[in-house]
Amino acid sequence: MDIHEYQAKEILARFGVTVPPGALAYSPEQAAYRARELGGDRWVVKAQVHAGGRGKAGGVKLCASEHEINEASAVMFGSRIVTHQTGPEGKGIYRVYVEAAVPFTREIYLGLVLDRVSQRVMIVASSEGGMEIEDISASRPDSIVRSTVEPAVGLQEFQAREIAFSLGIPAAMTQQMVRTLQGCYRAFRELDATMVEINPLVITADNRILALDAKMTFDNNALFRHPAIAELRDKSQEDPRESSAADRGLNYIGLSGNIGCIVNGAGLAMATMDTIKLAGGEPANFLDIGGGATPERVAKAFRLVMSDSNVQAILVNIFAGINRCDWVAEGVVQALQANPVDVPVIVRLAGTNVEEGLKILAKSGLPIIRATSLMEAAERAVQAWRSDRALLGKVRVPA
Ligand code: GDP
Ligand code: MN
Repeated sequence: MDIHEYQAKEILARFGVTVPPGALAYSPEQAAYRARELGGDRWVVKAQVHAGGRGKAGGVKLCASEHEINEASAVMFGSRIVTHQTGPEGKGIYRVYVEAAVPFTREIYLGLVLDRVSQRVMIVASSEGGMEIEDISASRPDSIVRSTVEPAVGLQEFQAREIAFSLGIPAAMTQQMVRTLQGCYRAFRELDATMVEINPLVITADNRILALDAKMTFDNNALFRHPAIAELRDKSQEDPRESSAADRGLNYIGLSGNIGCIVNGAGLAMATMDTIKLAGGEPANFLDIGGGATPERVAKAFRLVMSDSNVQAILVNIFAGINRCDWVAEGVVQALQANPVDVPVIVRLAGTNVEEGLKILAKSGLPIIRATSLMEAAERAVQAWRSDRALLGKVRVPA
């Protein structure tokens, strides 16, 4: 789960990271008022969306008067910002953050990520902050410092000092940098984050180390033990298909293709998407309905997949291990009878009681296209999606 910049800053500040004074606003008037409260004569108005690259897309504006803040935020509110991280549909702006503008002399990149190879938290930093890490690694790969943290002891001072030295932080500010690095690491570990990114972390004109931007992502599977973090969820920033799936306990990722997938097991769901691509099609989603595959879950899955208007065929791929294919087949038949869909449905069943399962599908009278192997299922799904749907007939059961 992602959170907003102002939320990440509030959290990191509690762990000892220094951030500029700022305030949140839900309207242009409030933004101007917040600036007056903050004081000073220069402010930055920042669109609060779950995406980076706002600076280049008009989501970060430097203002020198309340009037300018009002104007700049009036443009932002209610509009959608499109950056390289949002996709073409962009993200809606419903909150802006007003911050005292800070003159700085250097921008540093600081990121903490989970490194799956070493199975540790990895600190990634660069003296070339301000640009995206992808651009830094393309243009100045030599400037990137990487350091993995031994989980048993956490981020030690000597290690943090070493990072500060390799970034060329002036000696007088080493201790501030150590505190920043250790604060980020502790926030990452204690709150079950999967990513903390400060870009830019700046050295101010008056020699302070300050987080001008902040992003945090949390492990969804650990949110149950951090209710205060779970509350920060902002559905306005999520793909509506994914929000409704999450609310129903289904693991769903929306994609842009046309073949909807209903699969049990994450690995099988990945393999199903690969096979659809191999057969020349494009999957519309990743969906793992989990074990069980009861009629209720199958029905929920059909409703969810069909709520995507791009879906022109549905591939159901179930492997029954502990489960039984005949029960799953019953589930599919009941789901389709209760919620008819008007696109071709391809079903591949494998595992326990597969013969009985296929018999149930055949006896149902529903125009379900059956397949035995995964490759065959993917080819039939792509074929069905390509062919004239009228010729294939529709899965529609008279009321
Ligand atoms: P992003 O583009 O979404 O990553 O948004 P950032 O918060 O990183 O802002 C983009 C850029 O705006 C930063 O790299 C800074 O150069 C600039 N910026 C942000 N806040 C301030 C500030 O308080 N003072 C000044 N002078 N520049 C700022
Ligand atoms: Mn940034």
